[in-house]
Amino acid sequence: MLDELDLVNERFEYAAPREILQWTFSRFDDGVAMACSFEDLALLHMVHELRPATEIIFLDTGGHFPETLDFADRVTKDWSLHVTRTTPGPAAAPWPCGSERCCELRKVEPLGRALVNHSAWITSVKRVDAPSRAGMKILMWDEKFGLVKVNPLASWSDEDVAYYLTRHGLEEHPLWAQGYASIGCAAMTRKPQVPGDRRSGRWVGMDKEECGLHEA
Ligand code: SF4
Repeated sequence: MLDELDLVNERFEYAAPREILQWTFSRFDDGVAMACSFEDLALLHMVHELRPATEIIFLDTGGHFPETLDFADRVTKDWSLHVTRTTPGPAAAPWPCGSERCCELRKVEPLGRALVNHSAWITSVKRVDAPSRAGMKILMWDEKFGLVKVNPLASWSDEDVAYYLTRHGLEEHPLWAQGYASIGCAAMTRKPQVPGDRRSGRWVGMDKEECGLHEA
Protein backbone atom coordinates (compact mmCIF):
# COMPACT_ATOMS: atom_id res chain seq x y z
CA MET A 1 0.00 0.00 0.00
CA LEU A 2 2.74 2.50 0.95
CA ASP A 3 4.54 1.95 -2.36
CA GLU A 4 1.31 2.50 -4.21
CA LEU A 5 0.63 5.72 -2.32
CA ASP A 6 4.14 7.00 -3.09
CA LEU A 7 3.64 6.38 -6.79
CA VAL A 8 0.23 8.00 -6.86
CA ASN A 9 1.49 10.97 -4.86
CA GLU A 10 4.12 11.65 -7.51
CA ARG A 11 1.48 11.47 -10.19
CA PHE A 12 -0.96 13.73 -8.36
CA GLU A 13 1.28 16.47 -6.97
CA TYR A 14 0.07 18.89 -9.66
CA ALA A 15 -3.27 17.22 -10.38
CA ALA A 16 -6.66 18.85 -10.00
CA PRO A 17 -8.63 17.78 -6.91
CA ARG A 18 -11.32 16.23 -9.11
CA GLU A 19 -8.75 13.90 -10.68
CA ILE A 20 -7.57 12.84 -7.22
CA LEU A 21 -11.15 12.23 -6.14
CA GLN A 22 -11.91 10.21 -9.26
CA TRP A 23 -8.92 7.97 -8.56
CA THR A 24 -10.00 7.64 -4.91
CA PHE A 25 -13.54 6.56 -5.76
CA SER A 26 -12.33 4.17 -8.40
CA ARG A 27 -9.68 2.64 -6.11
CA PHE A 28 -11.72 2.39 -2.88
CA ASP A 29 -15.29 2.36 -4.19
CA ASP A 30 -17.85 2.30 -1.35
CA GLY A 31 -15.11 2.27 1.27
CA VAL A 32 -14.66 6.04 1.01
CA ALA A 33 -16.08 8.63 3.41
CA MET A 34 -15.49 12.36 3.60
CA ALA A 35 -15.11 14.26 6.87
CA CYS A 36 -16.71 17.66 6.52
CA SER A 37 -16.94 20.56 8.96
CA PHE A 38 -19.20 22.57 6.62
CA GLU A 39 -16.85 25.49 6.92
CA ASP A 40 -16.57 25.83 3.18
CA LEU A 41 -18.34 23.90 0.49
CA ALA A 42 -15.65 23.61 -2.21
CA LEU A 43 -14.51 20.04 -1.70
CA LEU A 44 -17.95 18.88 -0.62
CA HIS A 45 -19.32 20.23 -3.90
CA MET A 46 -16.75 18.24 -5.92
CA VAL A 47 -17.44 15.06 -3.97
CA HIS A 48 -21.17 15.55 -4.32
CA GLU A 49 -20.92 16.06 -8.08
CA LEU A 50 -18.70 13.03 -8.61
CA ARG A 51 -20.38 10.63 -6.21
CA PRO A 52 -23.55 11.93 -4.55
CA ALA A 53 -23.94 8.78 -2.43
CA THR A 54 -20.65 9.36 -0.60
CA GLU A 55 -20.94 9.14 3.17
CA ILE A 56 -20.25 12.55 4.72
CA ILE A 57 -19.09 12.50 8.33
CA PHE A 58 -19.90 15.58 10.39
CA LEU A 59 -18.30 15.65 13.82
CA ASP A 60 -20.83 17.22 16.14
CA THR A 61 -18.67 18.04 19.14
CA GLY A 62 -21.57 19.54 21.05
CA GLY A 63 -19.83 22.91 20.89
CA HIS A 64 -20.46 24.22 17.38
CA PHE A 65 -21.84 27.66 16.63
CA PRO A 66 -25.59 27.54 15.97
CA GLU A 67 -24.77 29.06 12.56
CA THR A 68 -22.60 26.03 11.71
CA LEU A 69 -25.35 23.59 12.71
CA ASP A 70 -27.97 25.50 10.72
CA PHE A 71 -25.68 25.72 7.68
CA ALA A 72 -24.85 22.00 7.86
CA ASP A 73 -28.53 21.08 8.18
CA ARG A 74 -29.56 23.30 5.29
CA VAL A 75 -26.87 22.08 2.90
CA THR A 76 -27.55 18.48 3.90
CA LYS A 77 -31.20 18.91 3.02
CA ASP A 78 -30.71 20.97 -0.14
CA TRP A 79 -28.07 18.62 -1.56
CA SER A 80 -29.67 15.41 -0.22
CA LEU A 81 -26.38 14.45 1.41
CA HIS A 82 -25.82 11.15 3.20
CA VAL A 83 -24.51 12.48 6.49
CA THR A 84 -23.30 10.50 9.46
CA ARG A 85 -23.36 12.91 12.40
CA THR A 86 -21.14 11.73 15.21
CA THR A 87 -21.69 12.69 18.83
CA PRO A 88 -19.27 12.33 21.72
CA GLY A 89 -19.53 9.23 23.88
CA PRO A 90 -20.27 9.41 27.63
CA ALA A 91 -16.55 9.56 28.42
CA ALA A 92 -16.47 13.14 27.06
CA ALA A 93 -18.89 14.52 29.65
CA PRO A 94 -16.28 15.30 32.35
CA TRP A 95 -14.06 17.06 29.81
CA PRO A 96 -15.49 20.53 29.06
CA CYS A 97 -14.63 22.68 26.05
CA GLY A 98 -10.94 23.32 25.84
CA SER A 99 -9.89 20.83 28.47
CA GLU A 100 -7.04 18.45 27.87
CA ARG A 101 -9.01 15.52 26.44
CA CYS A 102 -11.87 17.45 24.87
CA CYS A 103 -10.77 17.21 21.22
CA GLU A 104 -9.71 13.62 21.66
CA LEU A 105 -13.12 12.58 23.02
CA ARG A 106 -15.33 14.88 20.94
CA LYS A 107 -13.52 14.62 17.60
CA VAL A 108 -10.82 11.95 17.36
CA GLU A 109 -12.62 9.10 19.11
CA PRO A 110 -15.98 9.68 17.34
CA LEU A 111 -14.26 9.92 13.96
CA GLY A 112 -12.43 6.68 14.67
CA ARG A 113 -15.76 5.03 15.37
CA ALA A 114 -17.27 6.41 12.16
CA LEU A 115 -14.34 5.25 10.04
CA VAL A 116 -14.45 1.62 11.11
CA ASN A 117 -14.88 -0.60 8.03
CA HIS A 118 -13.77 2.17 5.66
CA SER A 119 -10.72 2.04 3.41
CA ALA A 120 -10.14 5.76 2.85
CA TRP A 121 -11.27 9.11 4.18
CA ILE A 122 -11.22 12.44 2.40
CA THR A 123 -10.35 15.68 4.16
CA SER A 124 -10.18 19.30 3.04
CA VAL A 125 -6.90 20.18 4.76
CA LYS A 126 -4.48 22.42 2.88
CA ARG A 127 -0.75 22.82 3.41
CA VAL A 128 -1.20 26.56 3.82
CA ASP A 129 -3.61 26.11 6.74
CA ALA A 130 -0.85 25.88 9.34
CA PRO A 131 2.85 25.11 9.69
CA SER A 132 1.83 21.72 11.11
CA ARG A 133 0.20 20.93 7.75
CA ALA A 134 2.97 22.20 5.48
CA GLY A 135 4.28 18.72 4.74
CA MET A 136 0.87 17.12 4.20
CA LYS A 137 0.88 14.60 1.37
CA ILE A 138 -2.02 14.21 -1.00
CA LEU A 139 -2.33 10.55 -0.10
CA MET A 140 -1.00 9.05 3.08
CA TRP A 141 -1.45 6.07 5.32
CA ASP A 142 -3.31 7.23 8.42
CA GLU A 143 -1.77 5.22 11.23
CA LYS A 144 -4.20 6.52 13.82
CA PHE A 145 -7.32 5.29 12.05
CA GLY A 146 -5.80 2.48 9.98
CA LEU A 147 -6.85 3.59 6.49
CA VAL A 148 -5.79 5.84 3.64
CA LYS A 149 -6.19 9.58 4.08
CA VAL A 150 -6.81 11.63 0.96
CA ASN A 151 -6.17 15.37 0.92
CA PRO A 152 -7.22 16.55 -2.55
CA LEU A 153 -6.83 20.25 -1.63
CA ALA A 154 -3.37 19.85 -0.09
CA SER A 155 -1.74 22.11 -2.68
CA TRP A 156 -4.56 24.65 -2.84
CA SER A 157 -4.42 28.17 -1.42
CA ASP A 158 -7.22 30.06 0.32
CA GLU A 159 -7.61 32.02 -2.92
CA ASP A 160 -8.16 28.80 -4.86
CA VAL A 161 -11.01 27.92 -2.52
CA ALA A 162 -12.49 31.43 -2.77
CA TYR A 163 -12.30 31.28 -6.57
CA TYR A 164 -14.01 27.88 -6.62
CA LEU A 165 -16.83 29.09 -4.37
CA THR A 166 -17.41 32.14 -6.57
CA ARG A 167 -17.18 30.24 -9.83
CA HIS A 168 -19.76 27.72 -8.71
CA GLY A 169 -21.99 30.21 -6.90
CA LEU A 170 -21.62 28.37 -3.60
CA GLU A 171 -22.83 29.87 -0.37
CA GLU A 172 -20.28 30.79 2.28
CA HIS A 173 -20.47 29.90 5.96
CA PRO A 174 -22.62 32.67 7.50
CA LEU A 175 -19.90 33.61 10.01
CA TRP A 176 -17.43 34.52 7.26
CA ALA A 177 -19.49 37.66 6.64
CA GLN A 178 -18.88 38.61 10.28
CA GLY A 179 -15.10 38.33 9.91
CA TYR A 180 -14.50 34.79 11.09
CA ALA A 181 -12.10 32.89 8.85
CA SER A 182 -11.47 29.47 10.35
CA ILE A 183 -14.39 28.08 12.26
CA GLY A 184 -14.34 25.34 14.86
CA CYS A 185 -16.09 25.02 18.19
CA ALA A 186 -17.62 28.29 19.40
CA ALA A 187 -15.74 28.39 22.69
CA MET A 188 -12.38 28.10 20.93
CA THR A 189 -12.93 30.26 17.85
CA ARG A 190 -12.27 33.98 17.52
CA LYS A 191 -11.86 36.20 14.52
CA PRO A 192 -8.28 36.10 13.17
CA GLN A 193 -5.85 37.69 15.60
CA VAL A 194 -3.15 38.12 12.96
CA PRO A 195 -4.18 39.71 9.65
CA GLY A 196 -3.85 37.20 6.84
CA ASP A 197 -3.50 34.21 9.15
CA ARG A 198 -6.89 32.51 8.95
CA ARG A 199 -6.26 30.08 11.77
CA SER A 200 -4.90 32.66 14.21
CA GLY A 201 -8.38 32.86 15.75
CA ARG A 202 -8.35 29.21 16.77
CA TRP A 203 -7.41 28.18 20.32
CA VAL A 204 -6.29 31.73 21.12
CA GLY A 205 -3.93 31.85 24.08
CA MET A 206 -3.52 28.10 24.16
CA ASP A 207 -0.51 26.06 23.15
CA LYS A 208 -2.54 24.22 20.54
CA GLU A 209 -2.60 24.27 16.75
CA GLU A 210 -4.47 21.09 15.88
CA CYS A 211 -7.34 19.10 17.28
CA GLY A 212 -5.62 15.77 16.79
CA LEU A 213 -7.26 14.68 13.55
CA HIS A 214 -4.48 15.80 11.25
CA GLU A 215 -1.22 15.26 13.04
CA ALA A 216 0.98 13.20 10.74
S1 SF4 B 1 -12.03 22.57 19.57
FE1 SF4 B 1 -12.17 22.99 21.75
S2 SF4 B 1 -14.31 22.70 22.29
FE2 SF4 B 1 -13.98 21.73 20.27
S3 SF4 B 1 -13.56 19.62 20.72
FE3 SF4 B 1 -11.59 20.64 20.63
S4 SF4 B 1 -11.08 21.32 22.72
FE4 SF4 B 1 -13.28 20.74 22.62
